[in-house]
Parts: sequence; C-alpha cells; structure tokens
Amino acid sequence: MTSAARGRPAYFVGPWDLNRDLSCVPQRPADGTVVLVESRAKSQALPYHRKKLVFVLSAMHHFAAELREAGFDVHIVNASTYVEGIASHVESHGSTCIVALEPREWGLSRAFDQAVADNRWGVPLDRHDDGGPGGHFLLSRAEFRDWAGDRARLRMADFYKWMRIRTGYLVKNKKPEGGKWSFDAENRKPARGHSPPEIPRCEPDAMTRQQIDRVAKWKGHWGEAEGFSWPVTRQDALRHLDIFFEHRAESFGRFQDAMLAEQPFMWHSLISPAMNVGLLSPREVCERIVNEYASGRIPLASAEGLLRQILGWREFIRGVYWRRMPELRAANLLDAQRPLPDFFWEPDATDMTCLRESIGQVKETGYAHHIQRLMVQGNFALLAGVHPLEISHWFWAAFVDAYEWVELPNVHGMAVFADDTFTTKPYAASGKYIQRMSDYCGRCPYDVKARHGAGACPFNPLFWSFMHRHRDRLEANPRLRMLYRNWDRLDDREQKNTLESAEKLLSSYVPAEPAWRFRDDEG
Ligand SMILES: Cc1cc2nc3c(=O)[nH]c(=O)nc-3n(C[C@H](O)[C@H](O)[C@H](O)COP(=O)(O)OP(=O)(O)OC[C@H]3O[C@@H](n4cnc5c(N)ncnc54)[C@H](O)[C@@H]3O)c2cc1C
Ligand code: SF4
Repeated sequence: MTSAARGRPAYFVGPWDLNRDLSCVPQRPADGTVVLVESRAKSQALPYHRKKLVFVLSAMHHFAAELREAGFDVHIVNASTYVEGIASHVESHGSTCIVALEPREWGLSRAFDQAVADNRWGVPLDRHDDGGPGGHFLLSRAEFRDWAGDRARLRMADFYKWMRIRTGYLVKNKKPEGGKWSFDAENRKPARGHSPPEIPRCEPDAMTRQQIDRVAKWKGHWGEAEGFSWPVTRQDALRHLDIFFEHRAESFGRFQDAMLAEQPFMWHSLISPAMNVGLLSPREVCERIVNEYASGRIPLASAEGLLRQILGWREFIRGVYWRRMPELRAANLLDAQRPLPDFFWEPDATDMTCLRESIGQVKETGYAHHIQRLMVQGNFALLAGVHPLEISHWFWAAFVDAYEWVELPNVHGMAVFADDTFTTKPYAASGKYIQRMSDYCGRCPYDVKARHGAGACPFNPLFWSFMHRHRDRLEANPRLRMLYRNWDRLDDREQKNTLESAEKLLSSYVPAEPAWRFRDDEG
C-alpha cells in the first residue's frame, strides 16, 4: 500500500451498492479507498438459493474490477461480518472515516448502530440516505416519512398518484396521461395461445464461472449454481433492458397477470435482481419507460403498468418496511400457526401442478413473477394458515432478487395479510382464479371445478375454510360480502363436506424439515 492510500476515507460499497452514481462510491480515485466485504455470516444466515449467491458475489467482483480498471484502490475483504470486514480495512489502511449508504436491511442497520456505539471502527461513520440523489430509490427515507405522516393506513394508489405528480412521469398539467392514473383493469388478460419471446441467456464469463464453482460446493443452500445466466454487470443489465423493451414491453401490460406452465419469464422485465443491487437505477428505468411511450414504441397500458411497479410499488414497499420495522417481522394478524409444507423446498413432493411448476421454476432459476408469488405460492400459504415468518423466510431465501426490505412487506402485507398497514383485505383466491389466469389446471390431476372430495382442487376447500375461519374479521368488508352470501346459500351438508375436505388436506401436509436455519439479522 502506498503512503498516499493511508489517511483517506474508506468507502464501504455493500454488495447491493454496485453503481458509480451512488454516494458511497468515490467520484475520483484520490477521494479514498473502496472496500467491499464478503460477509461469511450473511452468506450463511439463510439457505439462500445458490444462484442468488453467485449473482451477488459475481456482480460484486465485476464491479470491483470495473473500479480498479478506472484507477480506484479497491479491496474485497472476506470477513466474519460486514462490520468486521470494514474494521480490518480501516485498520490496515489507517482510514480517516467511513463513507456508507444506510444499509438496506434492518439487521445491518442495527449492526452499524452498535458498531458506532461501541466505537468499533475508531473513526466516524458518514451515513448517507439510500434514497434521493446519490441513492437507490427516488425518495429519501425522510420524504417517504413526510408523505406518510401520521396516517395509520397507507394506500399505494394515493402514494403512486403523488409520485406521478411529483416526478411528472406520464403526467400533463397534473393530469394523468390517457385520463386515468391506473390501467390495471385492462392488464388482466390470460395468455393461453400466446408464446412469450425467448430471452437470450447471459453466458457466465470466467469471473462468474469462478463464483459458480465456489458456491456449488457450499453446504446448506437451495438450488443449483450451475445453469446461472443472470446479468451481473451494468453493461449486461442494460443490454437485457434493451431486449425487454424491444421484444416484451409492448405486451407487458396485457399479460402482466398471466401464467403459463413452462414459461417462467412471460413478458416480465426480469430487472429486479439488477435493480436491487444497483446495476440499474429505478430513475433511469422510469425515464426509459416514459421515453419508450413518448416515441410510440410501447402502449400506454404497458408504460403505465410498468411505471406503477417501479415508481409506485417498489418505492412504497421500501417506505413501508422502514416505517413498520421491527414490528413487521412479528406481525400475524390472522394468528396463522401452521408450518410450511415440505413441497416449498421439494416441489416434486406435490401433485398440485400450479405449485409444483411455479416452485420448481424458482428452484431452477431463482425467479417467479409477481402473480405466481402472490396468487399461487403466497395464496396457498395464506389459505393453509402457514405462519407468516415461515413463508417469509422461504421467499427471502429462495429468490435471486430477495432482500428483507422488499420481500417482508410483500409477504406479510400483501400475500398472507399478516399486517394491514396497506391492504384492506387478503388476496385470497380459489382455484378459479388460477384457472382463469393460467394453463396449469388443464395439466393437473385435480378438478378445479370441484369444491370438496379427494379429487377436488385443494385451493377450493382451503379457500372456503379460510373464509369461514376468518368470517368475523372479513365479513364487514364490502368487497367480500358477496362471497359470504354465496357460502350461506350452500346447504349444511355441502358446507360440512367442504370444511372436512380442508381439514383432511391440512393434516396431510408434511412440514418442511427444519433442516434450514434462519438468522435474520446476522451478517
Ligand atoms: C410474496 C411476494 C414476494 C416478493 N418478494 C420480492 C423480492 O424479494 N424482491 C423483489 O424485488 N420483489 C419482490 N416481490 C415483488 C415482485 O413480485 C417482483 O419485484 C417481480 O416479480 C420481479 O420480477 P420482474 O423484475 O420481472 O418484475 P416486473 O413484473 O417486470 O416489474 C418491474 C419491477 O417493478 C418492481 N415491482 C413490481 N412489483 C413490486 C412489488 N410488489 N414490490 C416491490 N417492487 C415491485 C420490481 O422492481 C420489478 O423488477 C414480491 C412480491 C410478492 C407478492
Ligand atoms: S386444479 Fe387447483 S391445484 Fe391444480 S393447477 Fe389448478 S389451481 Fe392448482
């Protein structure tokens, strides 16, 4: 190390901070050293999908190489934790201070607080907001807090409208382009008979290959490292974004909620892994959407649908996470207590086609799209009364794009209605919804029209038993009243058979072996 390297700030670039526009990355090599940490505790905290580990490690190593090539003094430290990795760098480089973004997750945020309280680093920590200019999100944490104010309930639709006006995206004179803030109602077409365009693989280079070989040997993780093909550099992420806009964005809106067996990616953008580690910024993606619409390359329904996901849902979910932590983790509004069934980890253990196919696809790729997560996997956990943390841990570990800040509000707030900060009713659905939106049921041994009995689609008795169990809480909701009226029209025998079918099913599920360990805050 040159003497010039001593006595300068250390810039901590977390594995999710891989973008040169972030304020935790120095502008010029002379500004300070860069430290990236491979935290052993973090990699072992959950049984992460091996493709997720390859993704994060490879993206990190590629980013370090890019910075080195540009003349920066970059160090990758393998350490027991992030805090210890930073400490060893500060010590060996005589750093004057540490520059970092606010950690994305609760556990690391607390670890940073503790390190500061204990003076573990011996130098000041300059913590920057992870949102707003130089951050990962369009909004700073304070801006979201100001918007939310003291409202007990938050509504995504209100937030989204506010964000549209604030940014001016697809807005003219404070009015929404096309006269409506949301085209969601037009975006619910099934895709039977349509084939999504093929997505070219991103072949692993030597650096990614190295991480695949490394992670393949790690014990206690899910899925395979082999077959990895996610973009791990900004250049590749941008190329894949171009491919999305060229071939899939036009139909994104229309088929946003559709599911087809053997088509894991449909017309979705697949940008969440890259965006969540900073390879793409949400602002640039939003601007690209607006430009694609303005130049007539994508219809308004697709442009608005996409914008709502990124400008609306993504920003909103992150705001909810920080507002509701740490209580959000413990939330269990419906007092759901059942264990997660084994087939979430071993999809071949179920003959329910929708679950076997969609979970099998996650095991293979680390990805499922939103409706598979919400209306198949999450919906099943909701109806079966799986404990919220059990299903949340699964979502956190199993997906290549998963981080607690985004999975937890989605799982607890949306999928299993463990927290009602931003939802007024559960997203509960019987087999009929899955039949309408997919081609799974035609390939399934169960009868999607039957309400009970050994051959009935399990989602049906489970749905009615769920509605019956939670009648006191849900009946007052005007959007659910009709359902209860339908239930009340059934004769006693039909109701009894349905509830008995549900009980039989619930007692037949084999709990997932507690082979996996979850240490939420370690790292
Ligand atoms: C139970 C459940 C768990 C989820 N866990 C995660 C997770 O761990 N990580 C994650 O990034 N997303 C999560 N989501 C949100 C969403 O399903 C994924 O962002 C999306 O499927 C990623 O695929 P895509 O990039 O092809 O998305 P597209 O469908 O193409 O959407 C574009 C982008 O919009 C954003 N977006 C859309 N919906 C949401 C949402 N509800 N919350 C936050 N961002 C959203 C994402 O950044 C996404 O990349 C979860 C949703 C549910 C219902
Ligand atoms: S019949 Fe039921 S279990 Fe089978 S695929 Fe359809 S919804 Fe899923």
